[in-house]
Amino acid sequence: MKQEELRALLERVVDIAVDYRAGAATRPHRPDKSYDEALKAFATHAPQQGVSARVVIDELAALAEGGFANMIGPRFFGWVIGASAPVGLAADWLTSGWAQNTGNAHATPSSSACEEIAARWIVEMIGLPEGSSVGFVTGGTMANFTCLAAARNEVLKRAGWDVEADGLYGAPEVHVVLGDEAHSTVFSALRYLGLGANRVKRVGVDAEGRIDGAAFKDAVNALDGPIIAIAQAGHINSGAFDPFNEIADACAGKNAWLHVDGAIGLWAGAVSSLAQLAAGLDRADSWGADGHKWLQTPHDCGYAIVRDPEAHRRAMSITASYLPAGDVRHPADFVPELSRRARGFATWAMLRHLGKAGVAAMVERHCALARRMARNLAADHDIEIMNDVVLNQVAVRLGVSLDPILADKLTEKAITRIQHDGVCFVGGAQWRGRQIIRVSVIGEGTTEDDIDKSAEAMVRAWRVVRAEEA
Ligand SMILES: *Cc1c(COP(=O)(O)O)cnc(C)c1O
Repeated sequence: MKQEELRALLERVVDIAVDYRAGAATRPHRPDKSYDEALKAFATHAPQQGVSARVVIDELAALAEGGFANMIGPRFFGWVIGASAPVGLAADWLTSGWAQNTGNAHATPSSSACEEIAARWIVEMIGLPEGSSVGFVTGGTMANFTCLAAARNEVLKRAGWDVEADGLYGAPEVHVVLGDEAHSTVFSALRYLGLGANRVKRVGVDAEGRIDGAAFKDAVNALDGPIIAIAQAGHINSGAFDPFNEIADACAGKNAWLHVDGAIGLWAGAVSSLAQLAAGLDRADSWGADGHKWLQTPHDCGYAIVRDPEAHRRAMSITASYLPAGDVRHPADFVPELSRRARGFATWAMLRHLGKAGVAAMVERHCALARRMARNLAADHDIEIMNDVVLNQVAVRLGVSLDPILADKLTEKAITRIQHDGVCFVGGAQWRGRQIIRVSVIGEGTTEDDIDKSAEAMVRAWRVVRAEEA
């Protein structure tokens, strides 16, 4: 392709993306198309003949139009999803432009170096042990997987077993201890690792979903042999943090590895006003974190952070005669993949843009906005906030005065109605035996006004649903 053609093609993409983003605040916070409609738009037979790049891009934009979730919108509170901030997006475009397959440091010096420095910044900002290694993975799921692979390797090595060479058959039993409300992706990771999703010791939790420290200690004390303990920083519904100090104390003196799933909350480590919440976080052996949640990098981006870089490397490294080795950090040695995107650029850009102060200010702002949302909603006597809003997550129960089964049914209806109205987007979840609305305040652009408008829209939808039922 000629330079001018490439420029025109990329400028066309800039126009499409800028127009799309300009509309984020005013566009409804829902897709205008269903999945079936989107599928119909794209459904044709495999093309026999190709067309020009420009035609492809225009066609793609036209076919996808209307089927987008407004995830960068300021009133998007569904799941736990960052808003892909402009500087991260820009760095991500450069990442594609530069096209560095970032597996090997000697092959791609700048993307590997940028990643290594971004890794050190993450460790320093969150206050984790100096020298911890970081693998740049696709998200929290692969961060948990990677860290737990290092954990499995290390506790078995200490028990005299080389799991990398000899696998799990005949190995000493590895006990896994975790909270009863550990995130579903932790169980996925345990499945991938041959440890089994059900072969775990689940410890009881309190009303916030937080591990009961005393019960955890009893569980660990009752076990002999290698142990993997799993805690979390940021419960998916309540935002609660497990009592890391108690858990780390329980693990001390045992052949135990403590992993923290911090997909949501690890960035709280960068915030001095949240120091109490995060107390003991730095005592773990590994931490999973997300870039594409609170740090607002584009998808996909997560971090597998391990205190012992050698355990991390042993679990993940790839050697091949055609890969230059040498005594440096090779990005591929810390992640499951060999060929991969240079995720360090977008991470570096976000951290350089925000600085630790900016990260802390953003996290604090979102926590304050979550409390505001909770206050606004709780002003309605028929709405209850089920969690202690210590972070950015708000668990909302509707129909306090109603029979629980009816309240749950109407809550589901209210969620559908809120989503259809499109002022804001919220999702539901089952928690403590009830249907809740889960609000995650995590988007870069959310303001107090957005919170007020959204709370109003939610209350309005709820009243309509209740009136229809009466
Ligand atoms: C989102 C989340 C994950 C999974 O992270 P992905 O980036 O979606 O892979 C794991 N744990 C918790 C607590 C999460 O909120």
